[in-house]
Amino acid sequence: MSFKKLNKKTVDGLYMYTFQLCTITLNMSNPPSSFQQTLLLTDEELGDEHIMTSLETPLRHDAFELSDEEKMAKIEAHFREIMLTLGLDLTDDSLRGTPKRVAKMYVQEIFSGLNPKNKPKVALFDNKYQYNEMLVEKDITFYSNCEHHFVPIIGKAHVAYISNGEVIGLSKLNRIVQYFAKRPQVQERLTMQIAQELCQVLGTDDVAVLIDAQHLCVSSRGVQDVNSSTVTVYYGGAFQKDAKKNEFLQYLKLSKPVDGGR
Ligand SMILES: [Zn+2]
Repeated sequence: MSFKKLNKKTVDGLYMYTFQLCTITLNMSNPPSSFQQTLLLTDEELGDEHIMTSLETPLRHDAFELSDEEKMAKIEAHFREIMLTLGLDLTDDSLRGTPKRVAKMYVQEIFSGLNPKNKPKVALFDNKYQYNEMLVEKDITFYSNCEHHFVPIIGKAHVAYISNGEVIGLSKLNRIVQYFAKRPQVQERLTMQIAQELCQVLGTDDVAVLIDAQHLCVSSRGVQDVNSSTVTVYYGGAFQKDAKKNEFLQYLKLSKPVDGGR
């Protein structure tokens, strides 16, 4: 798996981003030049175009020096300031508890995937049944947040792998998706982070990830397009062959099995 980005700060606060889009679907070591893009963007434009600058979530070196409690206290105070600045009356019963609720929600829920201590522990089992075909876990609903606007990304993730001798509990596939979704995210990075983690824990490159999501920063603001969705994919190892890719995509088209009370 490779992802390369070169960026240089130029004069006037402009950044020059040169991307080599060689991973998401193509995974080529030498991408043709048509996949290289050079852009001159301001910080604001960069966010509105939803461009990812690195595969790793950009974190400060001191990201985990504060305890969760200390982070919540700080966020609560800052969020109170934001609300006051907007002109809201925090003596109102309905608003009084909001800064604390938001702080708790950020740290303990929707951004809990920033902290490696919350990463799901994965146990592998011997592939006793010698099941050597692909396993697809589809329609994993997730809620994430766009790192450029801090509004929700709502989508479905579909993941697949071919066992390399060991198998993973099905619920763990779901938990890995949820862990990386609970960060300020960019959909391309979410796709790659899930794929990278699956490759690592399963000890195989034979992994596929497809994400289809709606970005509320596109539907509820900005261009206000309520119908569009964004699809990102990663095909590793055997999934780079058309036959496996097509098989995976065929499974995603299958209708739901018998409703188990859902
Ligand atoms: Zn956004």
